[in-house]
Amino acid sequence: MPRPIEALIHPAALAANLARARAGAANARVWAVVKANAYGHGIERVYPALRGADGFALLDLAEAERVRGLGWRGPILLLEGCFEPRDLELCSRLDLWHAVHCSEQIDWLAAHKTQRPHRVFLKMNSGMNRLGFRPAAYRSAWARLNALPQVDEISLMTHFSDADGARGIAHQVAAFEAAAQDLPGERSLSNSAAILRHGLANDWVRAGILTYGSAPDFPDHDIRHWCLQPTMTLRSRLIAVQQLQPGDTVGYGSSYTATEPQRIGIVACGYADGYPRHAGTDTPVLVDGVRTGTVGRVSMDMLAVDLTGLPDAGLGSEVTLWGNGPRGSLLAIDDVARAAGTIGYELMCALAPRVPVRVAEEEPG
Ligand SMILES: *Cc1c(COP(=O)(O)O)cnc(C)c1O
Repeated sequence: MPRPIEALIHPAALAANLARARAGAANARVWAVVKANAYGHGIERVYPALRGADGFALLDLAEAERVRGLGWRGPILLLEGCFEPRDLELCSRLDLWHAVHCSEQIDWLAAHKTQRPHRVFLKMNSGMNRLGFRPAAYRSAWARLNALPQVDEISLMTHFSDADGARGIAHQVAAFEAAAQDLPGERSLSNSAAILRHGLANDWVRAGILTYGSAPDFPDHDIRHWCLQPTMTLRSRLIAVQQLQPGDTVGYGSSYTATEPQRIGIVACGYADGYPRHAGTDTPVLVDGVRTGTVGRVSMDMLAVDLTGLPDAGLGSEVTLWGNGPRGSLLAIDDVARAAGTIGYELMCALAPRVPVRVAEEEPG
């Protein structure tokens, strides 16, 4: 028998979350953001559920080829544009739309030979200070692009640093508007948090994490609040049970000491599966659908869970590390991420290659 760990991908939940993005974004068109192999879910696995999107946004050219290879004829956007001049050949060949965030990328376009002018998304650095033209340089970049025969429509985009937090988006929206207000072209500003928290929907929204059933602003709000459903379940089983006496310790470093008699279960899941090693004692976990906590340090292939109050749990009991558990139980990936000092994004992207992944067969919800 194979090791009893597996990840399940939930297509009905992906479709429902995408519909949630649409509902929150009025008349905007929706990019399903599928970068990082669809946030760790697998592009091929999510594609059938996300075909209702208006386009796919990503940044790796090989991933763009995979989306085209699946038969997608609609828009594909390279969020970071080209990394070197010859990437433009692939853009021409596969009809990829691409961000333009620096003057070198305009130089490359100007030198590019193509039959088919490119649709580009001119990126403004409105405060994130990662990619894009500063507001003062934006209009001249637009004018340069607009003069190129290699360029078809120019859309305008920016990205928020604090859509999920206290600082918010108003200062960046203001900077964007001030520099771009009378430029023609479609707008794309919002990520998941801007859609959900700020209800901001321009011509195109970029729905990433919400599509994958994680709340961008957890713990301010959780997935129940935003009506999102888990799209990835990581589950395994108990492979051993230990009866601890007071003073017994658990695992490497003896970081946990029992203070009274205690039953614990050993789960076939460790950091080599993508479970966060930084998750300390009391990270939430479901055993047979009942919420309990981890005990001691996570090791490479195993972790321990408290079985107090779970007298029926034993060898083979189902353990939900995150996602959907038995009998309608649920453990949001955000709860686990928080206990490990990280965010849902990182956990789903870090699912390890050794974990078998299955697409759940379920009725569309
Ligand atoms: C990743 C990304 C998004 C999606 O962000 P979420 O927070 O996952 O919704 C949107 N826009 C850009 C430019 C990105 O890189």
